[in-house]
Amino acid sequence: MTDYIEITALYARRRRVLGPDARCRQCGETAIAALQRDAEGIICYECDRPRRGKRTTEDHHPLGKANDMDTTIGVPGNFHRQLSAMQADWPEVVRNNPTRDPLLWIAAVALAVRDFANVLTVYAQQIADWLMQLHATLVAHHGATWVSALALPSLWGAM
Ligand SMILES: [Zn+2]
Repeated sequence: MTDYIEITALYARRRRVLGPDARCRQCGETAIAALQRDAEGIICYECDRPRRGKRTTEDHHPLGKANDMDTTIGVPGNFHRQLSAMQADWPEVVRNNPTRDPLLWIAAVALAVRDFANVLTVYAQQIADWLMQLHATLVAHHGATWVSALALPSLWGAM
C-alpha cells in the first residue's frame, strides 16, 4: 500500500537503505520510519529501546514544539517515529510559525489530524488482517459457530 508516509523523500531514502521488505526481526514492524539497522540486522525503535534501558513510549508534541511547546501526548515509540517524520515534512511556515499566526496554528491541527489518521489507517489494516486470520483458525478448529462452541459471551453483551 502506498501512502503519504511512503512518498516523502526521507522515507524513500530509508527504504533504499533498509530494503523493500524491511521489517523488525523481533516483532515484524514494517513502518519504515520506525526501523533501524544494527550489527544483527533490522530492528524497530520500540524493540531496541528496552535493550538500552529506555521506555517504549514517548511524549509527542502533536502540533510541533513551535506551535505548542506544552501539549504532549504519550505514544508508543514506533508511532512517535512515524508522526515526527511526517511532522518534519510539514511546510516550514507551519512547522516554525514564527509570528504565532492563528491560521497556521489551525493548519498544524489539520496536519496533526491527517498524520494520526494516516498512521492509524495502517495499524487498522494490520489489526483487521490479524483478526481475519484468527477467525479462520477458530472456524477451522471449532466450526463456524466457534463463539458458542467456546461458550464465549456476545461481544456486544446480551442481545
Ligand atoms: Zn520490533
